[in-house]
Amino acid sequence: MSKENLNPKEIAQAQIKAACDQLNADPSIYEVLKEPAKVMQVSVPVKMDDGSVRTFVGYRSQHNIALGPAKGGLRYHPDVHLDEVIALSMWMTIKCAVVGLPYGGGKGGVVVDPKELSQNELEKLSRGFIRALGDFVSPQKDIPAPDVNTNPQIMAWMMDEYDQIKGFNNPGLITGKQVQLYGSLGRTEATGRGTFIAAREAAERIGLPLEGARVVMQGFGNVSTYAALLFHEAGSKIIAVRDYYGGAYNPDGMDAQELYDYVYNNPENTRKTVVGFPGSEDIESNDALFAIDCEILVPAALENMITSANAHTVSTKIISEGANGPITPEADKILEEKGVLIVPDVLANAGGVTVSYFEWVQNLQNFYWTLEEVNARLERILVDAFEEIYTMKEEKGVSMRVAAYMKAIDAIAYNMKMRGTI
Ligand code: NAD
Repeated sequence: MSKENLNPKEIAQAQIKAACDQLNADPSIYEVLKEPAKVMQVSVPVKMDDGSVRTFVGYRSQHNIALGPAKGGLRYHPDVHLDEVIALSMWMTIKCAVVGLPYGGGKGGVVVDPKELSQNELEKLSRGFIRALGDFVSPQKDIPAPDVNTNPQIMAWMMDEYDQIKGFNNPGLITGKQVQLYGSLGRTEATGRGTFIAAREAAERIGLPLEGARVVMQGFGNVSTYAALLFHEAGSKIIAVRDYYGGAYNPDGMDAQELYDYVYNNPENTRKTVVGFPGSEDIESNDALFAIDCEILVPAALENMITSANAHTVSTKIISEGANGPITPEADKILEEKGVLIVPDVLANAGGVTVSYFEWVQNLQNFYWTLEEVNARLERILVDAFEEIYTMKEEKGVSMRVAAYMKAIDAIAYNMKMRGTI
């Protein structure tokens, strides 16, 4: 069993510290960034369908708002804990700055297994959570979005609850809404599209053709499905995918659209899993998944999946981090030594928050863009950010992760300095 520190907050602190050290930054910068600016903990009592009452604990962390209002998702998961929420908000601060958005970092979560709740209970919990947060969130202050196990329907309930409290429409409160309900075209696909773009840019830098490249993915949810469709379109071979229930492996490659239909347009597949996809074999564990020889690996499930215990067996050229924090710092070192080019989460999954930003801008202006406009703006922002970070990596001789943190911390520090915080 590995003894490495898997506390996500301490990992985020170490990552920020490493970049501050590399920048020779004024110590006051780390002193401010090592803790979240504000954290709210709430208890949400829900009257369940059977008449009993259950209380759910929820959190919202606003890490730093030097660059703009806090922005970040809301997660529903039984393992949600305060340090995780804080770490995720710290990564959001960095991520928004990496792609140059006028946002700070926020994140929230509720300790719940939504699979155990009826739709009615889920709606009550979602409305109760936003009521409990009250004025802690607002379109000017802190703008939530979907994350693990939350979706546009949950965002719609939350927006509606907030509108009822305020007495007028506030579409800019929350992003990731349905397109028909003030959402943005291209938002659903945006994170996966960004993860694909990150891998594509990385492949170009190392002279790897995407056509025929073997891709292994962890998770087949919002992020990985859309990335898989784009890899497939580019002629890459999706040879392995593993989700919560098990995996699908086919060395000849799997058709991403067929896999998508098998999981999501198949009433018989009640667990929405890739397991049993025709022509594929199961993959017994995540360790076995990561050991599959490939050119591009996309971890897009949860954090701390690639650790010092399994990093040695990873056999890939590029990792595009669809998930937040999927690689531990110890594993990072091992992979760097192996020469794997890692596009860090703060860049590789920033497509989601970028189009969330577009959604918010459209909401505030009440003026909506075409899909082509959304995708073209997303492409430009991500390609420019990639180029800037890759160049910094080359010039400073650091990893892309450290380079990304350096770019972000530089921008945040400048604003904090001008504001007089430091
Ligand atoms: P999702 O709930 O849609 O999908 C998660 C996938 O991971 C599912 O296929 C699930 O079965 C799988 N999974 C869960 N636990 C697993 C395990 N132990 N082993 C293997 N697979 C497992 O979530 P998502 O929205 O795709 O988010 C995935 C990751 O991407 C998270 O880290 C999230 O924070 C990050 N992310 C998401 C977005 C977004 O816009 N959705 C944006 C940025 C970052």
